[in-house]
Amino acid sequence: MSDVGGKGLAVVQENSKFKAESLEPTPEILNLWQKIHERMRGEFGEAVFRSWLKPLVLQASYHGTMEVSVPTRFMRDWIQNHYSERLLAMCQEENSEIKRLQIVVVQGSFVEDAPVLESGSEALKQANQNKKTEIASISSPLDPRFTFDSFVVGKPNALAHAAARRVVESMTLPFNPLFIYGGVGLGKTHLMHAIAHAVEQHWPEKTVMYLSAEKFMYQFVRALRSNEAMHFKETFRSVDVLMIDDIQFISGKESTQEEFFHTFNALVDQNKQIIISADKAPSDLTGIDERLRSRLAWGLVADIHPSTYDLRLGILQAKRAQLQAAVPDGVLEFLALKVTSNIRELEGALNRIVAHADVARQAITLETTQEVLQDLLRVHDRRITIDEIQKKVTEHYNLRPADMHSARRARAVARPRQIAMYLAKQLTCRSLPEIGRKFGGRDHTTVMHAVRKIEELMGDDVQVAQDVDIIRRTLTG
Ligand code: ADP
Ligand code: MG
Repeated sequence: MSDVGGKGLAVVQENSKFKAESLEPTPEILNLWQKIHERMRGEFGEAVFRSWLKPLVLQASYHGTMEVSVPTRFMRDWIQNHYSERLLAMCQEENSEIKRLQIVVVQGSFVEDAPVLESGSEALKQANQNKKTEIASISSPLDPRFTFDSFVVGKPNALAHAAARRVVESMTLPFNPLFIYGGVGLGKTHLMHAIAHAVEQHWPEKTVMYLSAEKFMYQFVRALRSNEAMHFKETFRSVDVLMIDDIQFISGKESTQEEFFHTFNALVDQNKQIIISADKAPSDLTGIDERLRSRLAWGLVADIHPSTYDLRLGILQAKRAQLQAAVPDGVLEFLALKVTSNIRELEGALNRIVAHADVARQAITLETTQEVLQDLLRVHDRRITIDEIQKKVTEHYNLRPADMHSARRARAVARPRQIAMYLAKQLTCRSLPEIGRKFGGRDHTTVMHAVRKIEELMGDDVQVAQDVDIIRRTLTG
């Protein structure tokens, strides 16, 4: 048996006595171990044996201790809890001098014997095909619409997009892992699918595993239940590109994290690309082990910012072209201005007015749009007062309440005041003169100017766009 008596292995377990007082197992001990290995198969059955016991490798024996290794901590704990007592008893039945069984973690200590297949042979092709089929059965399906072609690039997502393209184009691991994060509905999943599609297209021989962290956990738990843990590990460790969406899901799920951590390390060791998405930066992922968090930040961390007016308009224009619908520019601009929460909702709004026009056999106008989207737009207008807006804006910028009414023109005060006016126009039903009055008796043209200015800035200045978005969300959320 080739997996008995490992050589040249990295000992990663601190409490292993292997290095300090190692004794190469004698031929008799090796022989004994081989016998026990066979007995385990008979006693525990083929499935348990394959999943848990086959990977045990005899590393050393000394002073009545048999030291055997497994490739992961997780396996060590499992075997310790479930099988170690019985294993020791079996050893003792063979040799009464054995007093202890020590299980240590030695990475890479177990490699499944694979039949040697000649390159280019039918057998190899078949084996690759089987592997692909297996990986496809675990992967989540890809949305055919989520491609690079349909992804509109703007300032908020330029970095994440460039990084995603880079991963596909070079495939020499410019950074590993690629970690993409951002709020809900901002295009993380779209980018992930785009990468997967592109890899499949440009590198058909590569295997890509894409799945949500939730599904990863589900698959893992299922594998444990059916004693297929080894098989699970092998499958995940054999992919060329591993993509896990919404990694925040494994917060607080310790054994899943542990398993993921080992998979992660094994793949990085083999120079396989890993791509992760999350709703937060690695350092902000609470409930995730510190070791794992720091690993996640090893490569490139790219964030997707809240959308700007420009990006929203660009997305709507692309979507209009795709739907081949007659939507006036003014309606797109109106939507880009009003539906700012996320891209998913923005797309939903456009789909609704297009569908409505289709059914009602009506042209799309600003009026029909406002009518069809009444509920959606009202959410944003709900009982928000100018006082509230002023309060949130002053809090956000650390200003005094009086700054909203004062005549001060310093940029640090004037800009937030303009933002407050802009939000008052967007989120309340007040007229321009009414708004002006609430801001220290300003003229309605001043308010109009403020609204235009902020609209313009939201297209050019990511910081302003973000600030407006955050304040808007605290008001409407
Ligand atoms: P997330 O995974 O970040 O929650 P998704 O990737 O599911 O968000 O995106 C939500 C919707 O918005 C999808 O339909 C997606 O196609 C669309 N979307 C997001 N960003 C863009 C973009 N830059 N260009 C085109 N569509 C986008
Ligand atoms: Mg998503």
